[in-house]
Amino acid sequence: MMSSSHTIQLDELRKEILRCRQCGLTRTRQHVIFGEGNEQAPIMVIGEAPGRDEDREGRPFVGRSGQLFDKICDACGFTRQQHIFISNIVKCRPPDNRTPTRQETEVCLPWLIRQIELIDPKMLILLGATALRTMAGPNYRITRVRGTWLKVCDRPAMPVYHPAALLRNPALKRETWEDYKNIVATYREWVDRHHYSAHV
Ligand code: URA
Repeated sequence: MMSSSHTIQLDELRKEILRCRQCGLTRTRQHVIFGEGNEQAPIMVIGEAPGRDEDREGRPFVGRSGQLFDKICDACGFTRQQHIFISNIVKCRPPDNRTPTRQETEVCLPWLIRQIELIDPKMLILLGATALRTMAGPNYRITRVRGTWLKVCDRPAMPVYHPAALLRNPALKRETWEDYKNIVATYREWVDRHHYSAHV
C-alpha cells in the first residue's frame, strides 16, 4: 500500500518539476515530462530526453523508441503500470532532438535524484550513453559496460543500448536481448521469484 505522505510528496515534486524554468529548454518546450508508471515501481528506467512525440503528448517514450521499448518490456513480462517507472535525464525536449548539453543535464539531474529517492526502486535501467554518463560518470562507455551491473544512487543499475540505437542498428538487438534476460533473472532473484514472462 502506498502511504498518503508518499503520494503527497510525489505530487508536490511533480508540481515543482512542471513549473521548472531553470534552463533554456523552457523557451522551446510544449510540455515538461515528469515520467510515468508505478510510483512505487521496483524498476526505474532512465532515458535521455523527450523527443517530438513526447513533447507533444506530455508523456515519456511514446514515439518509435518508446514503442520498441514497450515491446521489449512485454517480452520481459514488465508493464509501466506494475513494474516500471520511466523518466528521463532531462525533462524537456532539446530542439531538433539534439543531445542535452552538460548545463541542461546538470540543472535537471536533481529532479531525477529526488524521483529516485521517493520512488525508491530496487534497480535502475540506464537507456543509452547519456543516461549512463550522467548517472555513472563521464568516462563510462556504453559499448564497454552495457549488460553489467553498476552501482548508481546506492542501487544496482544496468546500462543497455537506447532503443533508438537499436532502431538505427538492428544488429545490436541480439546482445541487448541478452542484457534484458539478465535483468529478468535478477528481478526474479531480488524482487519476485514468481515473475512470469512468456519469453525469458
Ligand atoms: N528518447 C528518450 O530518451 N526519452 C524519451 O522520452 C523518448 C525518446
